[in-house]
Amino acid sequence: MTQHANVDETEIAKFEALAARWWDPDGEFRPLHEINPLRANWIDERSPVAGQRLLDVGCGGGILAEAMAQRGASVTAIDMGTGPLEVARLHQLESGVQVEYQQSTAEAMAEQHPEAFDVVCCLEMLEHVPDPGAVIQACADLTRPGGNVYFSTINRNPKAFLFAIVGAEHILRLLPAGTHEYEKFIRPSELAGWIRAAGLNLEGMTGLTYNPLSKRYRLARSDVSVNYMVRTSKPA
Ligand code: SAH
Repeated sequence: MTQHANVDETEIAKFEALAARWWDPDGEFRPLHEINPLRANWIDERSPVAGQRLLDVGCGGGILAEAMAQRGASVTAIDMGTGPLEVARLHQLESGVQVEYQQSTAEAMAEQHPEAFDVVCCLEMLEHVPDPGAVIQACADLTRPGGNVYFSTINRNPKAFLFAIVGAEHILRLLPAGTHEYEKFIRPSELAGWIRAAGLNLEGMTGLTYNPLSKRYRLARSDVSVNYMVRTSKPA
């Protein structure tokens, strides 16, 4: 495979190996299925996406991309994994939801289509790339002035280690062991620094918490200790 500057092939390989399981609601990607309505609504309530040009960066099998297309957005979705993109294209035949899938990095896309999107989403992807700041800059470049960029990732602290790795991968087995590496988790302050450096304004933040007893996820505005999501805007 060709080496791209800001792509970790080991990370891509993890998702290639699991690609066929992407749309199994009880499979390895179950957490993504469960958080999907929460995050799709959070975005749509703040940036009504109907009729908007939306780019999904690191789309995997297309769980968010399809949800946003169903809410009326005109969606382009990119990933560097071949398997996840194949699965996404197959699923779209079944669901009949229109999404334009392309194999690309955010950086390459930004060179070809600067300021081409009203809304850019990059969810659960930054903790899998060597240089998250460069992806954030590319997302900013892809967004039209006045548009919005959304990111989500996992915080880095002892509680996040306990919940996102020990709990999710080893005790509850919500995710395959090895899905996440603690060192690559991102503190909100670090994310905010990259957002500022990319010329974006941080507009809001919410946590996504998991209750192992009820087995439910919910949005928790004041608890960004493990999973969290941010909304940013590009100055008009
Ligand atoms: N954003 C999706 C999938 C998250 S899984 C969702 O939240 O539902 C992370 C995805 O990022 C995987 O599909 C992986 O192939 C992709 N990825 C990792 N590094 C990438 C890179 N540098 N460029 C594009 N996609 C990448």
